[in-house]
Amino acid sequence: MNYRHAYHAGNFADVLKHAVLFALIEALKAKPTPFAFIDTHAGSGCYALDGVEAGKTGEHKDGITRLLFPDLHSSGAPAGPLPPLLRHWLDSILRLPGNEHGLKLYPGSPLQVANALRDTDSAQLCELHPEEATRLRELFHRDRRVHVHERNGYEALKALLPPRDKRGLVLIDPPYEAQEAEYRVIEKALKAALQRWPTGVYAVWYPIKLRSQVQPFHRWLQHCGVRRVLRAELLVHPDDSPLRLNGSGMVILNAPWKLDDALREPLRALAPLLSQERPAQWRLDWLVEDTAA
Ligand code: SAM
Repeated sequence: MNYRHAYHAGNFADVLKHAVLFALIEALKAKPTPFAFIDTHAGSGCYALDGVEAGKTGEHKDGITRLLFPDLHSSGAPAGPLPPLLRHWLDSILRLPGNEHGLKLYPGSPLQVANALRDTDSAQLCELHPEEATRLRELFHRDRRVHVHERNGYEALKALLPPRDKRGLVLIDPPYEAQEAEYRVIEKALKAALQRWPTGVYAVWYPIKLRSQVQPFHRWLQHCGVRRVLRAELLVHPDDSPLRLNGSGMVILNAPWKLDDALREPLRALAPLLSQERPAQWRLDWLVEDTAA
């Protein structure tokens, strides 16, 4: 339990993760019926980009901070305006109290979602690290829609699923301290969760270092019985080194209708903005496609 998200908040992987998360929440809000958001690995909820941890890595400078200046590609070539989904997502971050004079705070998944919830929606946030969980509790102590659980998020799924309204999203965003073994834990948790709630939407974030490390997980997803699994990836380096984060991906099980259409232009726009030494690569495809839908 050494991982602290404060060192990585707002980096290029967070940009992909949270842009997809924003699209998912928008899709859930398209219907008036309430939904539940369940975050198995919530973090502390909000991060100071001028804080000590973020200052040590400066990772946000190659992530969210690039989106503040979309008129320039990293190559210096002019870029078009941001697609509406990215614009709205960025606006929601800039509207955060504390960001009136520029981007100082980067909200994590709990705060981004809480700010988008309606009065009837709810959030269950699981965080195992005591200090992070305490911060999370402080952040939401006045918000009756949000419940913080200081416990193992994988295990909590047994108690939290299915949610009362039978609509919603589970975000699984572990730190992968167990490296490839984490995928086996995720598969086990997903299997049990799908038995309890087969129609839930599940989004899993994963790091891309060596492509071969992710492939068994993707093969497992292709045989897990879910009929719609969408994959979104963004790579800023070739996926050939085990030592650094080359990119990241999200898989979405039971992906909402037309989520692929909602994500295509945002991903296309993000790639040039997040490129480093060479053009970033992105991909959006169905690992499992429901041809009957
Ligand atoms: N989801 C957050 C976001 O997008 O802003 C970031 C989460 S961070 C990648 C992972 C978090 O999971 C860390 O805060 C870590 O303390 C916590 N964690 C690690 N193992 C856990 C477990 N088994 N259950 C719950 N939380 C865990």
